[in-house]
Amino acid sequence: MQSIRGMHDILPEEMKYWQYIYDKVFHTLDSANYQEIRTPIVESKSLFERSIGQDTDIINKEMYTLMDQGNRELTLRPEGTAGLARAIIQHKLCENSTMQKLWYLGPMFRYERPQKGRQRQFHQLGLECYGNNHPAIDAEVISLANNILADLGCNKLSIEINSIGSNHERAIYEQKLKEYLIKYINDLDNEYGQKIIRNPLRILDSKNPQIHKIVENAPRITNYLDIESKNHFEEVQEYLSILDVPFNLNHNLVRGLDYYNNTVFEIKTQLLGSQDTVCGGGRYNNLTQQLGGQQIDAIGWGIGLERLLILMQKNIILDKQVNCIYIATPNLVHVEYSLRILKLIKPHHLKYELDVSGSSLKKQLQKANRKNTMILIIVGEEEVRQQTVTIKWLNLHLQQTCSLTSFSSLIPKITLEYQNLLKHNQKYSAKQYPLVDISQKSSDNGAVE
Ligand code: ATP
Ligand code: MG
Repeated sequence: MQSIRGMHDILPEEMKYWQYIYDKVFHTLDSANYQEIRTPIVESKSLFERSIGQDTDIINKEMYTLMDQGNRELTLRPEGTAGLARAIIQHKLCENSTMQKLWYLGPMFRYERPQKGRQRQFHQLGLECYGNNHPAIDAEVISLANNILADLGCNKLSIEINSIGSNHERAIYEQKLKEYLIKYINDLDNEYGQKIIRNPLRILDSKNPQIHKIVENAPRITNYLDIESKNHFEEVQEYLSILDVPFNLNHNLVRGLDYYNNTVFEIKTQLLGSQDTVCGGGRYNNLTQQLGGQQIDAIGWGIGLERLLILMQKNIILDKQVNCIYIATPNLVHVEYSLRILKLIKPHHLKYELDVSGSSLKKQLQKANRKNTMILIIVGEEEVRQQTVTIKWLNLHLQQTCSLTSFSSLIPKITLEYQNLLKHNQKYSAKQYPLVDISQKSSDNGAVE
């Protein structure tokens, strides 16, 4: 059996990067007072049709839709904004002009041709700020995406911004654009012809080089903005500069979904070929209204995590983890005693490994070393008979034996040493490791070799 085309397992080795991203994002967004939200992966198909808009790639050809046993048409979410808007309306989260600053991370599904940086199940980190239309919010929201990407060591990125104005301004512009594009309709295949007629804006962000050439001289949306939209856009640019966020204007940036208005932006890389967009976002002040709720101003973005993972500097992730305790039981007849030792350790939340492979002590010692272990506990016949614990400090090449009771009182000290190691997040090495005075810890026989 194989996983579904375009849908991948994330194996433990890769998982540590995902966890690292999650932690970084959590701290950055928590300090900006954003709260995490999780909405279902499946929503009704109509939610996406009403928000993303007809004649978009997602609605036309990318959705995974299925019927459930109750004949409901359900769709695996292709993006996060629609479900979040539904949740805002359903739970009245913005009642009494409350602002909501939210973020999410989870899988999205689009039926696309899988390639590098493009999967059918992929993951987005998304951020959304509801309840305010001030251009300072636009700038702050863009700068948060920039901060997160920079923190994760992604470089050579460029931020592109544009304004697509209000619905009214866009309608006028669309007409002008159509008049311009229609001259080329016979040079283009039917798919583009349809777009020119039904949704000419979608032509602007096409990746086809032939279209690029045509679009070069097309009318620009920014020339059709009224004073309010113009001011908003100018202020966004001014505030971005104050926040030291570098950006470029891109007159053809319109984004592939219909719910946007005014500010739109993308963060691009030169390192990923045609899958060059890492982050996309914009304002969508009419989305909740479009879905039957009250009007609530909103802005947000989504970052594709698989693309981010390709770009991020994986070496910023610190050294190997340190295992605290490895319980070696070369002869499995002693396993009960090993479990008694384990019971003493468990409440202290130390990283431990219980080896019941039955392999030789030498092999278990090798495995403990490979796991970067701080102490090895050897359970053998002598220990069981005398009710003692033999501790081998692997870094110090020292060994001590103490009674079970003194082992219990030693655990807080072991914990402290282990925490020290974690705090410095150092790769385990004898030189770096703070030396422990074992003689003081060993209260009974002090048998340190
Ligand atoms: P693209 O132009 O690459 O198709 P998009 O405009 O469809 O992107 P958005 O809907 O803006 O993408 O989604 C935001 C981000 O999610 C993208 O910038 C990208 O990083 C990521 N993304 C979108 N589709 C995929 C996919 N199929 N596989 C992996 N990542 C994706
Ligand atoms: Mg796409």
